[in-house]
Amino acid sequence: MLNSAPRPSPIVASVDFDAKGVQHGHLRLPYSRDDSAWGSIMIPICIIAHGIGPTALLIGGNHGDEYEGPAALFELAQTLAPLHVSGRIIIVPALNYPAFRAGTRTSPIDGGNLNRSFPGRPDGTVTEKIADYVTHRLIPLADIVLDFHSGGKTLDFLPYAAAHTLPDKSQQARCFAAVAAFAAPYSMKMLEIDAVGMLDTTVEEMGKVFITTELGGAGTASATSIKIARQGTLDVLRHMGILGGTPEPRTSRWLDMPSSDCFTFARDDGLIAFARDLGAPVSANEIIALVYPIGSTGVAPIEYRAAIDGVLAARHVPGLIKAGDCLSVVATIAEYPQPGQT
Ligand code: ZN
Repeated sequence: MLNSAPRPSPIVASVDFDAKGVQHGHLRLPYSRDDSAWGSIMIPICIIAHGIGPTALLIGGNHGDEYEGPAALFELAQTLAPLHVSGRIIIVPALNYPAFRAGTRTSPIDGGNLNRSFPGRPDGTVTEKIADYVTHRLIPLADIVLDFHSGGKTLDFLPYAAAHTLPDKSQQARCFAAVAAFAAPYSMKMLEIDAVGMLDTTVEEMGKVFITTELGGAGTASATSIKIARQGTLDVLRHMGILGGTPEPRTSRWLDMPSSDCFTFARDDGLIAFARDLGAPVSANEIIALVYPIGSTGVAPIEYRAAIDGVLAARHVPGLIKAGDCLSVVATIAEYPQPGQT
């Protein structure tokens, strides 16, 4: 169990977490460097609070090259009116701000992958200090945490919201209910390749409702994927009773990642020629992609085949791949996970 008692953090918030109304401010992280001796990193934060109700923590930019969350959250920080809120909405649209500024997955300051740095350290690297502040100051305030992701510059996903299988089935049911409320075109029972150090795991271990997304990728965002992020966020806030009104009904197709057989990794470098597009049905042993060695012609491509039946849920971008890169994810068609299911 994580200790949620306050610990010394160098980060200072310019907002009052207990005040009502709208506040736009910063989490100021001291960062002494060559071009700014007593300088700081200024992470934008917005708090919208009114009346009595739960607290939602909405995070974008955990990885700096994923844009649906930041696009939806900068907009909602600008447009949500406190009079329509019952409770509190904490918006951090670009959490790993140095990475977000650089358009990179990891921090250009310390190379830190924020979503592998939790629970963080108050006396660690810049990235670890951000993680520590989220763990010990922000998550304890929240009833629900929504952390936006997409594929960044090296993956592209079917648009989905997701939660994980959890040991506490009541908590798991609340997480999947929030995923259903988000109602992205796809909803995923998600398996992580390596869950150590993730914000997801930290929030879940603190007993909170946690949902995440993968809403596209390829280092950009589309009008469609930003709309999915915006609608999903509003409907999760309605689901929690923080905003009034009823969600617009949307259909979502449930998918599952039942085992590590979902993932395919490249064995060699080369040029990828996908044989299936995102969302296409695939059968076990069917070719997903050919990877051509690029040094010369006349060399046979390596075939990559699906290990299971399902749909192509993620694919590598751009067109060249390196040994060890994730080439594809195949997810299986599923039903809404009822309480009691594992
Ligand atoms: Zn991400």
